[in-house]
Amino acid sequence: MSIKVAIIGGGASGMMAAINCAYTGARVVLLERNDRVGKKLLATGNGRCNYTNENMRMDFLHGEDHQFIEKVMEKFGRDQTLDFFEKLGITPANEGDGKIFPLSFQSSSMLDVLRYEMERMGVEVLTDSYVVEITRRKNFIIRLKTGEAIEAHRVILTTGGKAMPVSGSDGNGYSLVKPLGHVTNRITPALVQLKLKGDKFKQINGVRFVGRVSLHIDGKPVKEDFGDVLFTDYGISGPPVLQISREAIRAQEAGRDTRVKVSIISEKSKEVVFSYLRERFENMPERTLEFGLIGFINKRLILPIIKELNLDKSKAVGSLENREISAMADLLTGWEFQVAGNKGWGQAQTTAGGILTRDVDPDTMESRLLKGLFFAGEVLDVDGDCGGYNLQWAWSSGYLAGLSAGTLPVS
Ligand SMILES: Cc1cc2nc3c(=O)[nH]c(=O)nc-3n(C[C@H](O)[C@H](O)[C@H](O)COP(=O)(O)OP(=O)(O)OC[C@H]3O[C@@H](n4cnc5c(N)ncnc54)[C@H](O)[C@@H]3O)c2cc1C
Repeated sequence: MSIKVAIIGGGASGMMAAINCAYTGARVVLLERNDRVGKKLLATGNGRCNYTNENMRMDFLHGEDHQFIEKVMEKFGRDQTLDFFEKLGITPANEGDGKIFPLSFQSSSMLDVLRYEMERMGVEVLTDSYVVEITRRKNFIIRLKTGEAIEAHRVILTTGGKAMPVSGSDGNGYSLVKPLGHVTNRITPALVQLKLKGDKFKQINGVRFVGRVSLHIDGKPVKEDFGDVLFTDYGISGPPVLQISREAIRAQEAGRDTRVKVSIISEKSKEVVFSYLRERFENMPERTLEFGLIGFINKRLILPIIKELNLDKSKAVGSLENREISAMADLLTGWEFQVAGNKGWGQAQTTAGGILTRDVDPDTMESRLLKGLFFAGEVLDVDGDCGGYNLQWAWSSGYLAGLSAGTLPVS
């Protein structure tokens, strides 16, 4: 009789594992606590699902053991992912910046084809099945909240991390495997908006611009990114902010001096902005400072910037000294804020940290502590930057866990 594999968690990695495990001929049961699978997948990429990236560079993925990540990605990377989904019916669309979406630009298409394939391959999908305990006798016994128990030869844990807990991933998966010896390292939200110190945010809430955001830890530049930025009533948001949030949160929580510098004049050096301002002010010397910046930067930023520079808003721009114009150019190309926190798990798109990968074999995704137990997806200590890297990890690790759980000899 074929072996039975139970997969706990019907997200991206769980469905990927289920299909690939079923391809091996194993009997597969997928247990999902929600009343349907793939709730978070529907929310990805603003409902469009950025499922991989043309530029699959390894430094876009993070975790304590980078070799572990590389080994897994070598076996099933971007090209295999594109092939896999094309066979299921997903035509890829590259928006030009490397991000790949289904050509329908609908996350629901991804979920539809995964569900269809699970059904075609005979995967038994049990929804409303909240797993509360995993024990091992001869086989694995998986106990549900309802009191029911399911027996399986193998288990794959794909319960996700802690980001977006309303989707069902609230970190409970970590405690399921703790009694089996698997522990996590430090877990923090990542790809999330940052709270900044200061009293000006009510005033500039809603101001959008294209700019550069750079992270400075203990005075040293660490990471930067460029794109749409939004000031909010708590601080700052937008893709470049999400990209630097992982390192910012870890540093801020460790008590290090953590600052962001925001360039609101897109892609211009301080020197260029200084020369431009000096010429601009020479051409309209009688204008007040408050009026002299209209048309150059967002109107709502003018007064907070003048206040930050300790200048008098009614001063004529023609009377500004070079050092004052220089300070203004400095601020416009690198407005500095101290990071005070983040918007938390409810807003985070992924989890930094997770189950220690040193206890998992990267050739198979099998536990090194308990044979027959496998892992995939965000539950592990692997997370990616924005751009399709988190889902790519879910597909890569899900594929390998499903294949191995269905084919490895029973020990
Ligand atoms: C708003 C948002 C947008 C995102 N956009 C993108 C994007 O465009 N591209 C990208 O690459 N990444 C994106 N991500 C990240 C990506 O969605 C995740 O990294 C990925 O879905 C993780 O897959 P997973 O299978 O490991 O976990 P999940 O998708 O979180 O699935 C885990 C599943 O396990 C279930 N579960 C948990 N505990 C139990 C239990 N005890 N019993 C039974 N079931 C359980 C949960 O209900 C859930 O369905 C986004 C994330 C968010 C929140």
